[in-house]
Amino acid sequence: MVNIFGKTLEELTELLTEWGLPKFRGKQLADWMYKKSVTDFNEMQNLPKSMREKLATECVIDRAARVDQLDSADGRTSKFLLNFSDGVGVETVLMRQPYGNSICVSSQAGCNMGCAFCASTLHGMVRDLTAGEMLAQTYYINDMLSKSGEKVDTIVIMGSGEPLTNYDNVLKYIRLLHEDYCLGMSYRSVTLSTSGIVPNIYRLAQEEIPVNLSISLHAPENSLRSELMPINRKYPMADVVKAGGYYGEKTHRRVTYEYILIDGVNDNAKQAKELVELLKGQLASVNLIPINPVVERNWNRPSPERIEFFEKYLAKHHITVTVRREMGNDIQAACGQLRNRHLDNG
Ligand code: SF4
Repeated sequence: MVNIFGKTLEELTELLTEWGLPKFRGKQLADWMYKKSVTDFNEMQNLPKSMREKLATECVIDRAARVDQLDSADGRTSKFLLNFSDGVGVETVLMRQPYGNSICVSSQAGCNMGCAFCASTLHGMVRDLTAGEMLAQTYYINDMLSKSGEKVDTIVIMGSGEPLTNYDNVLKYIRLLHEDYCLGMSYRSVTLSTSGIVPNIYRLAQEEIPVNLSISLHAPENSLRSELMPINRKYPMADVVKAGGYYGEKTHRRVTYEYILIDGVNDNAKQAKELVELLKGQLASVNLIPINPVVERNWNRPSPERIEFFEKYLAKHHITVTVRREMGNDIQAACGQLRNRHLDNG
């Protein structure tokens, strides 16, 4: 059985023309599958019965099934554990923001980047996700929202996984999101978050798809960044920031640098100054994320005064800065925690 969910219109048309069917059948199939979100070939009424039967015997529209769900007390954040047909599960999060419905999509099951603050990497990486599996996460939530006349408005590829090490699948997913026969989303409503895979930041800049780029920085100097993010040993901070600068110039999109604030680790005045030096002159903004305490590492959230100091210091030195509002703390919004709970429970 071939899973056709995640195939482009061209791929669908190619498959059907191999069966001796006219090209326009590809468009009809894409409309049913992506526009109408139908998964049962029998419901595709304008397709000939013989075609529906052949589809049913040779193909499947394989999406994702919900295994678990957690809703925050304020009802604004919902986290889903979704399984694919091989039993592999990932987390997808819906955040109801004032500006619309934003979802956080996983690009790999687990992750092997080893970031010190991240639960997704604790069990390593199981496998890359296909474009269809990323799309299936999106459709799961979009279908749910459509029942109340809503839709997915923005997407961050910021769940488990490093999207730029699963480059081809991620790019195919982003392009599918944009297609008129699929969700027709603008590239500007999509944000890709990376730990800093330098060659693929340059590659992405050449694709002429102006998605927002978010780079996890978390430290303004190499030794600390290597401790927090081992990938820094391969792609050092200065190279990452240079690549970010290139991305901004090429796409005219402001690059966001994520910076988790950890009390006594990366929140002092010297580090604020180093951060300003590093990003000076770039079309960049910094998103400060006060950490949720990690007991095992003795990491704590800085005091409100310290967070404010850091924020004001950057702003005073002309760096656009935001402090992430807290969402869904009560449902363990940090990526990977819900999935790990299921893995640990066997
Ligand atoms: S923060 Fe992202 S890149 Fe780092 S380990 Fe977690 S999922 Fe992987």
